[in-house]
Amino acid sequence: MIKALVLNSGGVESATLLAHAKKDTDVGEIASLTFDYGQRNSQELTAAKTLAEYYRASYNLANLPLLTSESSLMGGKLDTYQNVDQYFSIFDAKEDITSSAHVPFRNGIFLAWAVHYAEVAGYDVVYAGPMGEWDYDGGYWGDYFPDCSPEFAGAFGAAVRIGTKNKVRLVTPFVWTQTKADVIKLGTKLGVPWELTFSCYSDNFIHCGECAPCLTRAYAFQKAEIADPTLYIKQPNVQRGNE
Ligand SMILES: [Zn+2]
Repeated sequence: MIKALVLNSGGVESATLLAHAKKDTDVGEIASLTFDYGQRNSQELTAAKTLAEYYRASYNLANLPLLTSESSLMGGKLDTYQNVDQYFSIFDAKEDITSSAHVPFRNGIFLAWAVHYAEVAGYDVVYAGPMGEWDYDGGYWGDYFPDCSPEFAGAFGAAVRIGTKNKVRLVTPFVWTQTKADVIKLGTKLGVPWELTFSCYSDNFIHCGECAPCLTRAYAFQKAEIADPTLYIKQPNVQRGNE
């Protein structure tokens, strides 16, 4: 039996990872690890705790103040979009693009800290969410969030093996092949209670429906052809062809 540490941000991928670990008969004990890094919306911390309780995983919260406040996840301006086409159009920009939601090397820092925690506390495996995803054909997520790309996950996984003398393994089951819609299909099969998850970047208690993660979430449910149980302040417009 192995002990698994699941990175848990309270979102769709975290919930699916927890469900996946719970079903894995090789996994005997599950802990979850959540980071408070000064994000604007503390609701995701509440969602992460609720998910940990639901899956009977211990809830561990690490305070990790990051140095930037420019990102829309933190103190920076929150970009909102009228519809999903407007959001996706930024993926079409061919120039060097950086998302306003980018927090430099955030996922690298989270993973490094998680591996440190896993080795100290005796966890064999660190599960992390998809990190790389293609929200729609033609857009490459890694252009926006380079430390979320499949290439980064592969290289980091190798570094983890070397850096812990194979004591800890990094597992990123969705990173190479699965879109958010695929994750939602898998999570639905595993019985994930989507209503307990939270994705929004705004500072509302319920999903705003206009920020990038709200649109991505709603669009992924539509693509997966699964009813979206999320309560939005403004119902996201996820029909393509609005431009
Ligand atoms: Zn939102």
